Amino acid sequence: MRQTLSLLLLMFLLGGTALAQGDIIVIPHKDQLPQADERWRPKPEICRWYNGAEGAVSLTFDDGSLDHWERGMPLWDKYGWKVTLGIVSTTIVKRKGWKEQLQQAFDDGHEIANHSKTHLNMAESSEEVVRDEIGTCHKFLIDNIEGLDQVDTLIYPYEQYHYGNFHTAAEFGYMFARSGPQEREDIAQRNCSANPPLMHLYSWANQDILPMWMWNSTTDLAISKQGWMIEQCHGIGEAGEPGVGWSPRPYDDFVEHYEYLASFGDRVWVAPIRNVARYMLESRQFTMELVDFDKDYMIAKISQLPDYQNYWDVISVQCAVPADWEQAEVLADGKPVSSVRRSGDMLIANIPTGTTEVVMRKLNQKQ
Ligand SMILES: [Zn+2]
Repeated sequence: MRQTLSLLLLMFLLGGTALAQGDIIVIPHKDQLPQADERWRPKPEICRWYNGAEGAVSLTFDDGSLDHWERGMPLWDKYGWKVTLGIVSTTIVKRKGWKEQLQQAFDDGHEIANHSKTHLNMAESSEEVVRDEIGTCHKFLIDNIEGLDQVDTLIYPYEQYHYGNFHTAAEFGYMFARSGPQEREDIAQRNCSANPPLMHLYSWANQDILPMWMWNSTTDLAISKQGWMIEQCHGIGEAGEPGVGWSPRPYDDFVEHYEYLASFGDRVWVAPIRNVARYMLESRQFTMELVDFDKDYMIAKISQLPDYQNYWDVISVQCAVPADWEQAEVLADGKPVSSVRRSGDMLIANIPTGTTEVVMRKLNQKQ
């Protein structure tokens, strides 16, 4: 009786449909229920986020103020994080050393984004003016940063845009654009809905009046919604200090927030807009199908949707493995690739684009 009740409850919870009077419920015989010792049945999957993270966070900094170099970079380096820097071309040239600074940021792996020529409100401007604002800053970045041959991300000044602006940006090869806030609770989810708004990604601004708990909770939201939180920041330091950008927050607030963010370890993927958006686009182009398995191996096939062009390099896959797989190896088309064991006996591996076969294999402990 107790079993029947639990089963009913389970069916109700899973299906969400109430049973009508007269419905026949078939309760499987004990022998038909899955047994605990049934052999392993792997379910390989493409990870939602790189390296099996539960959520993604992008740190973005607007306007190219000097504090991003002097205070931000040593801090980001400490955690090994790369950020997105929105550059306004006519503003940054007023500063001594701007060219070296841009080159250094690019060489260090930070994303350089277009934040327009004069920080003009694009929503209120003609197409011709917008083309000049985007195009001039675009050419400036490409001409002055050695090795940079494409800029992927546009950051709308004042978070303001209308839909035509992105089409103008697309003429220059832009793929992503960041706008401003929605309800704080919704940002992480909206940035990765079924049709992601890559033309106007949402972001949350760490305005100086907002309390630390609210800033820190953006990380919780990324994880709890398994989504993508984009933080929008400006100055690091005190208002009025030389070299400090608009609406700054004290350096110590950044330290506190980053300690909080880092405390989640591999559960959060911290990466620039371009990296997260590309991973999201790419991971949707693949399917994974189990081909064969036994207690000590699993073979899966990766298929790519037709007409898809590769433009990125790594996709993460995951598969629950039996507890006795203390050591394992992963082969991508026969070549060993990096993999990690996570709690819950999850094996996560990073697979180069173009791979068609993934093999996960238990290794004997004593070789
Ligand atoms: Zn700005």
